[in-house]
Amino acid sequence: MGNEPRPRPPERLYIGRMFYPVRALGPGERVGIWFAGCSLACPGCMTPEFWERHSRFARRPEEVLAWLERVPRHVRGVTISGGEPFEQPQALHWLLAVLRERGFDDIWVYSGYTFERLQRRHGEVLRLIDVLIDGPYRADRPTDLIWRGSANQRMWLLSEQARMRHHRWVAYRVSRPVLQIVPEGGRFVVIGVPRAGTWERLQQHLAEMGLGEAGETRGAQAPHGRQQQPGD
Ligand code: SF4
Repeated sequence: MGNEPRPRPPERLYIGRMFYPVRALGPGERVGIWFAGCSLACPGCMTPEFWERHSRFARRPEEVLAWLERVPRHVRGVTISGGEPFEQPQALHWLLAVLRERGFDDIWVYSGYTFERLQRRHGEVLRLIDVLIDGPYRADRPTDLIWRGSANQRMWLLSEQARMRHHRWVAYRVSRPVLQIVPEGGRFVVIGVPRAGTWERLQQHLAEMGLGEAGETRGAQAPHGRQQQPGD
C-alpha cells in the first residue's frame, strides 16, 4: 500500500467541504473531506446539499494540495465522506495516493455503495483505504454502532494496520452519537453521525438558545464554497 505511482490528477475535484480538525468521524483528530455529488438519494440523507456536483464545489488539484499543506504534520487521520466519493473514482484515487504520500496512515472512507460492489469496480482504490464504512443510509434501520448511521452499514478494516488499531470499534456501541459542533460564519456546523431525530432536536435547541441557524452533517456543512482552513 502506498508504493504505487500516483494516479493522474483529475482536472477538477468536486469537494463540498474540507475541514480540520474533525473529532467525530473516526478516532482522534482528523482531516475531513466531503465529496460533492451523489446519485443514491437515500431518504433521510444528512447531506442533500452535497448531492449535486455543482460548479461551486469544483477545486483544482493544486488547491487541495495547498490546503493539505496547512494541516499540522502530526495529523495522520483522514475521513472522506460526501456526497459519494466513489462517484468521482479518478479524483478519489488521486486524492488517496496524495494523502498516502503526505504521510496519512489512517484513511477512512464512507460510501453509500457496498464493499462487494466497490471491490468489483474499484479494487485499486480500496487498496489505499484503511477503513471503509459502506452502504446507503437506511432511516428504517437505526443503530447505536459508533460512527454508523444505520444498522446495514458495515465497518471494513481493509489494511493490516487498521485491523490492529481499530478492531474494537467494529461492534462498539454508544449510548449517544459522537457529534462535534463548530461555530462558523454565523451558523453552526455539526460533524458526526446523528441519530434519527437528533438533528431536528438540535436545530430546535439552538434556535431556543438564540444561537442562530445550524448547518448539519455526516458530512459537515458550511456556507457553500468556503473551506475551513487549518488554524482558522
Ligand atoms: S446517505 Fe450518503 S449515499 Fe445516501 S444519499 Fe446521502 S450522501 Fe448519498
